[in-house]
Amino acid sequence: MRKVSAYLFYLFFAAVAATAPLTAQSILRDAETEAFFHEISDPLFLAAGLNPKDVKMYLLAETSLNAFVSGGQNIFINSGIIIKSDNVNQLLGVISHETGHISGGHLTRFGDVGKIAGNTSILSMVLGAAAILAGSPDAGIGLFMAGQSVALGQVLAYTRVQESSADQAGASFLEATATSGIGHIEFFEKIRHQEIMAQVRQDPYIRSHPLNSQRILALNGVVKTSKYYRKPPDPLLDEKFRRLKAKIIGFLYPPARTLNLYPISDTSPAARYARVYAYHKALEWDLALAEADALIALEPDNAYFYEIKGQILFENGKVRDALPIFEKAVHHAPDQPLVATALGQAMVSLEDPAMMDKAIPILKNATRQDSGNSFAWFNLAKAYSWNGKDAEASLATAERFYSAGVPPQAMMHARRALDSFSPGTPEWLRAQDIFFVSKEAVDRYNRQNKKRRRATSFKFSSSNQPN
Ligand SMILES: [Zn+2]
Repeated sequence: MRKVSAYLFYLFFAAVAATAPLTAQSILRDAETEAFFHEISDPLFLAAGLNPKDVKMYLLAETSLNAFVSGGQNIFINSGIIIKSDNVNQLLGVISHETGHISGGHLTRFGDVGKIAGNTSILSMVLGAAAILAGSPDAGIGLFMAGQSVALGQVLAYTRVQESSADQAGASFLEATATSGIGHIEFFEKIRHQEIMAQVRQDPYIRSHPLNSQRILALNGVVKTSKYYRKPPDPLLDEKFRRLKAKIIGFLYPPARTLNLYPISDTSPAARYARVYAYHKALEWDLALAEADALIALEPDNAYFYEIKGQILFENGKVRDALPIFEKAVHHAPDQPLVATALGQAMVSLEDPAMMDKAIPILKNATRQDSGNSFAWFNLAKAYSWNGKDAEASLATAERFYSAGVPPQAMMHARRALDSFSPGTPEWLRAQDIFFVSKEAVDRYNRQNKKRRRATSFKFSSSNQPN
């Protein structure tokens, strides 16, 4: 076992060395973010003739500027886009443009999404996420797989024709949803000066979406003639945007930097939200709880404020206190599987068989709504295991690794589940599916790596030589 991880570790660093200075990407999962993305983007998708249910949006932990479409109808947005946008319309400008790439059927030579999805963190879990990244044996593999996609990402670039057509399509979707395209222009202005910088200092957005003056002029022409040109951003959406931006900054930035951006003199909900995360991250539990309570007092029906308060209590070891708070979060957001997962996790962590019986239906329901939620699968497997349901535990663990993009472990646990369930039952069939799909991925991975190791071994060893 040790030998295997050391081998994969080597491969990981070999891949990083080959793709430097780019780093692996991880997806941030968060109920509030995902609901917000769909709230602001679904009207654009409809205007583009797409089914909003088919378009998946992912937030990446990267703070550089980038957004791209991969694997058909998956939009990936770097946290940097949200952090550096001043208002919701600038973000909408970027999303409308990416929607233009989807509706235009612009193909990219990017790797498949499963590889990018290898490493997932949950935005509300500051310590949990850190533990997942640092301590989990599958984190290295997930990162490695993400690293591979980033390597492929280097060749990703739309043509100038595709860029202009995505601009024009995006502008028409904004027009159809009565939104000013000025945000898109403003976003261009933010990155314009980067055109002349050396590639390594540019944001990846510039490399994937080549910019030029002609393109900006053309878009300007369309946007300025719109009757919505001077229409300001929707105030409600813009407030949600400000909070989301604050939350992401609080989660990603060092606490001191967050507190610098959102000083205690700022008592807006967004600033308090940022500070909840900063204090939470700095292990200042009391300060974090005080800000969370201030937010709850302001909006007693806001599920996400209860979610973060519950998480602070939970990570502080006050699990019994966290339970009723998480229950309130679920009560106010009954259709949010990530919120339900937080409750399920707290229940499972009590290591009480009676609690497991309560947690299992909650977590099962969460995985039914969101099968890619490897954290829910992880907790469901634990609950089954506690109650002696080993076959179910094996299948849930196979699902966990399958959804986390770790085929070797998915294959191993699916094999166990196959041996435990009666052939032909739905569980057995599901285990069989996971087994074969994962085996195929492992075989493909091994074949590719043989090739890649031959290609990069020279570069890798020579870069370690002293000059
Ligand atoms: Zn583009």
